[in-house]
Formats: sequence, C-alpha cells, structure tokens
Amino acid sequence: MANAAIVGINWGDEGKGRMVDLLTENYDIVIRYQGGGNAGHTVINEYGKFALHLLPSGIFRKGVVNILGNGVALDPENLWKEMQEVEKQGVPLTPDNLKISDRASLLLPWHRLLDGLEEARLADKKYGSTKQGIAPFYADKYSKKTILAGELLYPKHLMERLQDLLEWKNLTITRVYGAEPVTMEELEQWLENYCEKIKPYICDTGVFLRDAQAAGKKILFEAQLGALRDLDYGIYPYTTSSNAVAAYAPVGSGLPSAKLDEVIGVVKAYSSCVGEGPFTCEFFGKEAEELRTAGFEFGAKTGRPRRVGPIDIVATRYGVRTQAATNIALTKLDILSYMDEIPICARYSVDGVETDEFPFPALLNDAKPVMTTMPGWKCDISGVRRWEDLPKEAQDYVLYIEKEIGCHIGYVSVGPERDSIIIR
Ligand code: GDP
Repeated sequence: MANAAIVGINWGDEGKGRMVDLLTENYDIVIRYQGGGNAGHTVINEYGKFALHLLPSGIFRKGVVNILGNGVALDPENLWKEMQEVEKQGVPLTPDNLKISDRASLLLPWHRLLDGLEEARLADKKYGSTKQGIAPFYADKYSKKTILAGELLYPKHLMERLQDLLEWKNLTITRVYGAEPVTMEELEQWLENYCEKIKPYICDTGVFLRDAQAAGKKILFEAQLGALRDLDYGIYPYTTSSNAVAAYAPVGSGLPSAKLDEVIGVVKAYSSCVGEGPFTCEFFGKEAEELRTAGFEFGAKTGRPRRVGPIDIVATRYGVRTQAATNIALTKLDILSYMDEIPICARYSVDGVETDEFPFPALLNDAKPVMTTMPGWKCDISGVRRWEDLPKEAQDYVLYIEKEIGCHIGYVSVGPERDSIIIR
C-alpha cells in the first residue's frame, strides 16, 4: 500500500507506537500529523524501551525519513530533550532522518504555564490536562498568536514577533491569573537552549513530500491519541485540542493532496482511558486493579494509573467508522489470558433504552454498559505467531469483535516486542 495512516480507535494508548514501529519496515517516510508531547507511544525494540512523545515512531528504522508535520504542537524544549534521550541510547538523528516542518507552530514557554494556571483555577472541574500546554497552544495557533518553526530561521523578524506576543500574553498571565509575567530574558534563554538546537532539522517538508510522492515513496501517517479524543468527533470537552482522525492526516502532514490507501485502526483487546471524562465501560475495585496490573496500565507520560474496563463495542464501532478504518490491529490480547470469562460491553443503555449508537457527549454520563461474556482461554498466548495456533476461545473473541465492529482484524498483537504479532 502506498500511503497508510495508523490511528487510535478508542481513547488513546491502544498500542499505536508498537504498530508503527512494526510496520515502518514497509514505508519510506513516517509523519506525525497532530498533537504534541502530551501522550506517549511506548516502543520496545533492539535499542531498548522508549516512551516517544513527539518523535515519530519510525525513528528507529534505518533509511526511514521521519517528519514532524505542520499539524503538531512543536515544543522545542520537550523535543530537544527527547532527541537527546533517543541519541543517548544509540539512535542516530540527523537532518536526513528527522525533518521538522517549517510550518509547524511552536509551543511557547507560556503555554505550559497557562495550562497549569487554568487547571488550578478549574480546581475540581478540571478536564484532566497533562499540563503540557497543548490546549493553550492550539487556541493561540488558531488565533494566529504563535510562531512558525520556520520563523526561527529569520532572527530579526522573529524577535519583533516574539516581543509583540510577549506583551500580549503577559496581559493574560498577570491580569487574568495574577501570575508573574514572562520576561524577554527567559524567552532568549529558551531560544538559545532549545530552539537553536532543533534549527538544523527545520525545512520545507512540503517540497520534500511532494517530491517523495512523485517518486512513489510510501508514506505512513502516525496519529497521537484516539478517535474518542478527537476535537470534533470525540467526547468533547474531554478531548484533545486537535484532530486525531485519519482524515486530518494529509492536512497536518504537509501533503494535503495525499490519498490514504489504508487506515489501520489500533484497538486494544480491553479498554483504558487516562484522565477525566465519561468512560461508560469502566471497571472499579478489584476487577479494575487486576486488569490494570495485568496490562501495566500507567500513563507513558504522566505515570498516572489509567482507568480500565472491558472492550467497549459501541465506542469501538464508532471509532472504526469515524476513522474509516480499513484494517484493525487488535493489541494486548495476551493480557486477557488470566480471565476465566472475558467481559464485553456489547451495548449501552441510555435512560433505560438500549442502543448500539455512541451517544452525544452530553448523554454519556447517563449511559450504562450492557454486558456479556465469552469463555476465556486461560493459557499463555504470548508465544503464538500463527492464527491457527491461537486457542479457539481467543479466536472466537477476535472474530466476535470483528463481526461487531464491521472491520477486518488483520493483526493480533500478543506482546509488546516487535515480533509478537499474528498477521491474518
Ligand atoms: P500508544 O500511545 O497507542 O502507542 O500506546 P502506549 O504506548 O501508551 O501503550 C501501549 C503499551 O502496551 C506499551 O507499553 C506497549 O509496549 C504495550 N503493548 C503494545 N502491544 C502489546 C501487546 O500486544 N501485548 C502486551 N503485553 N503489551 C503490548
């Protein structure tokens, strides 16, 4: 397939990083097209274990060009720190294998500050921000009040723009929140410590991608977070502040004319959710504890315990449709091996009426899960590599999900390592 997107079908943390790491073998270019460093993809390969926040997951493959597209929240500080981490573990980074779009907007030092100030103001009404500045960043991007990465290459112009933005933003910081203003000296330090370091990687990625497309190169688009966190289609306001759906991939990548030949939707064999917001299928107490421990469900960025539950067919079907997925990767099936019976949230009940449709966000708090179960397989499946070697109960579970969500499950992942995969 020429172009493919790998996207999350649920709330994020489905194992997208692991799938991108596996599939990059077949692609020439990997592009992150939205989001910032507020979530993390965990990748385990021959270099070690990594929690990638901004770098595309193709960074570990020789010969693959990785691009941070114009749709991402480009945080120079976090990016530079992450680049150093990855290099320390033996992964070379050069302007040949990492390119930053000159049209990516910069997450500025005050965005993180404002995120924290606003969450503190909201107190118990908070949205569960990771305080990485993502929401204030996107608000400013769409108000045209931030800086494009390419502007770093024009210092005189840059300093004038920064001075204007600083004056404007300090009004909010000091008058609305009563906090200390950000100073020009702090901005200059930030420019020197981080922006200068990433400058060599900034280029016109649009031209590069157009040429690559004309030369028949294969491109993989990588999403951060899942369909249910998409700004327009997710559980608003408990969404992220950008579009995580595959349809946005061409726009956020720098190749608006790109056609997606395949959309690989990543679904976890059970559900997990970080932070606040409605989570209809949520487990509590001992049941939750067991599943969380079995699945190591703690945030890659924050270390926060994730909320967990059974697979949610209603939400997953909605995610598959929203993403227009053509193929599904079902991850972490091995985690369910301890269960006698596999719980499934098959439908929702809203105000006493059963439904297969994912409700409007405001109704989600009233939705109750309608549960069913299937027999468990109760044996270690992490060494299985062929579909026919999976226990019948595990096959039946996969086939049930496939039928219910209406999309072929082409990959079944049974472990975090690159090769722990069954391809159907
Ligand atoms: P992402 O943000 O969608 O990439 O997901 P995360 O990295 O937050 O979460 C996925 C976690 O599950 C990572 O720790 C992976 O190493 C791990 N993982 C992915 N697939 C599997 C699998 O099939 N089995 C097991 N046991 N772990 C997996």
